Amino acid sequence: MSIQNPVFIPGPTNIPEAIRKACDMPTIDHRSPLFAKILHPALDGVRQVLRQTSGETFIFPASGTGGWETALTNTLNPGDRVLAARNGMFSHKWIDMCQRFGLDVTQVDVEWGEGLPVDQFEQILREDSAGEIKAVLATHNETATGVVSDIAGLRRAMEAAGHGALLLVDGVSSIGSMPFEFDGWGVDVAVTGSQKGFMLSAGLAIVGFSDKAVAASKSATLPRTFWSIDDMRKGYAADAYPYTPAVGLMNGLKLATEMLLDEGLDQVFARHARIADGVRAAVGAWGMTPCARRPELYSNTVTAIRTPEGFNASRIVEHAATQYGMAFGTGLGDVAGKVFRIGHLGQLTDAMALSGIATAEMVMADLGLDIPLGAGVAAAQGVYRRGAQDERMAAQ
Ligand SMILES: *Cc1c(COP(=O)(O)O)cnc(C)c1O
Repeated sequence: MSIQNPVFIPGPTNIPEAIRKACDMPTIDHRSPLFAKILHPALDGVRQVLRQTSGETFIFPASGTGGWETALTNTLNPGDRVLAARNGMFSHKWIDMCQRFGLDVTQVDVEWGEGLPVDQFEQILREDSAGEIKAVLATHNETATGVVSDIAGLRRAMEAAGHGALLLVDGVSSIGSMPFEFDGWGVDVAVTGSQKGFMLSAGLAIVGFSDKAVAASKSATLPRTFWSIDDMRKGYAADAYPYTPAVGLMNGLKLATEMLLDEGLDQVFARHARIADGVRAAVGAWGMTPCARRPELYSNTVTAIRTPEGFNASRIVEHAATQYGMAFGTGLGDVAGKVFRIGHLGQLTDAMALSGIATAEMVMADLGLDIPLGAGVAAAQGVYRRGAQDERMAAQ
């Protein structure tokens, strides 16, 4: 594996040099006023990226999985009923966590490549007139299949059903890269991590709570210690943590939010959309299709690509690593061997994306797939040239 090449896995993502430097700092006393100068700007920056103006925001020294656990343990009671769909490896793992906590999961299985079944959820919520369902879990962007789901639509369906369940959203591979509206969509808990849209290494779980979710935490009885938002809130009130914070990473997070906001969130989202369009154009030119079933489900952060029947897609990932020192994502769970994934989020440019597309072509040609060298590159170049032209025109 060459460390000069960008990675094309859907997280951890490439780390900009400036952010790496910001993480590399000498030890400071995390109970001194110096830490407040990192903590509060990092929290403020994260809230702006989440588009969260109400409720509370917390940063745990953990990966995204810790964010899932924070969401569940602070809002629910043992035996509570929750509603979730299984449409990929990440939604599957969050459901598994619910079950390990003794929650009663109403699980809707949908084909991997489909999004959240909003209409079916609405029906189930309508039938729950007793209000037994305490939370609806939603994976905004299913990283295993490259499928984005309609969270605004899900909130509308919950309202149409007149149901008061909490809306818990996994935005780990969408937040900071694709539009996400904490306030606007009525999200109750949003979960993300440092290693995807925030362009850091893994190590921070970022969690936003609405006022309603904070209120639920006052009576929720699932046990929690490390993940307690009460303890964390008390820490923040004293410019500190209930334990030792990951100071360097938080300094990196502070800078990451500044970089995203300086570029402009709308510009960041547009850049991701354009890069993703180029990747999808390449996929089409290869005669292949995304795992995501319909264009409105296409993720702008990761594309899972179906390879021809009978071909083991994992060979692409292996060969890319050994022959060209480049990392692509492998197929997970139900789609293992059937898809490979190109991650296209975080610190990426059109030119970087072209290097990944070109390398994928060499790999597939080496493995005997009928891929004319340059076909995908040319298709993506068309998209990126048009994008650059549009930007020039807009700037005039
Ligand atoms: C990466 C990811 C996670 C979190 O995984 P960790 O390895 O615990 O950080 C959760 N959900 C989705 C959708 C992801 O892409």
